[in-house]
Amino acid sequence: MSTPGTPTVGVLALQGDVREHLAALTAAGTRPRPVRRPEELAGVDGLVIPGGESTTISKLAVAFGLMEPLRARVRAGLPVYGTCAGMIMVADKILDGREDQETVGGVDMIVRRNAFGRQNESFEAAVDMAGVEGGPVEGVFIRAPWVESVGARAEVLATYAGHAVAVRQGRVLATSFHPELTGDHRVHALFAAMVRAARGDDAGRIAHDR
Ligand code: GLN
Repeated sequence: MSTPGTPTVGVLALQGDVREHLAALTAAGTRPRPVRRPEELAGVDGLVIPGGESTTISKLAVAFGLMEPLRARVRAGLPVYGTCAGMIMVADKILDGREDQETVGGVDMIVRRNAFGRQNESFEAAVDMAGVEGGPVEGVFIRAPWVESVGARAEVLATYAGHAVAVRQGRVLATSFHPELTGDHRVHALFAAMVRAARGDDAGRIAHDR
């Protein structure tokens, strides 16, 4: 991973709204690329886990031999952004998952799957999000999870109807909603800035250690 230049951001392309994230990441000034294999994961500076169906993404990640490499890279500090099903994938713990459902983890939080979905299959709402300037983002919620609770290291960036819907812990960002569907690229720009900052920090550390 060379440092200067445009960061390469992968989109986990096992299932879900991959194309929309690729477009949003391009608009946010990164070089996006779909990731289906461990070799492809190795070449990215950051990763988006899209919305879709977390039980399917979990199953396919295991089948494609990606679950352990994903966990290892997140532990090593890979910046990750999960939307909706992707938020479920970066949760350390989930509620209302399928029995055999696994997550990558990375954020000390408990996420309840389909939590808003039980009340309302799909809706939109203005959401004020810390770290995103210029007014609320349009939150598109589709059978969306909410964050039931967060641990001390996780920071809640947004709430809706009394529930946390955007969380960050270090280099991992997660939203219950889908900014990739709105044409507003501010949340992807926030993630792109996290990826650039992580690359700079890592390069600095490597240069220092040398
Ligand atoms: N309900 C889905 C799940 O459990 C998430 C829905 C979405 O990503 N839009 O994975």
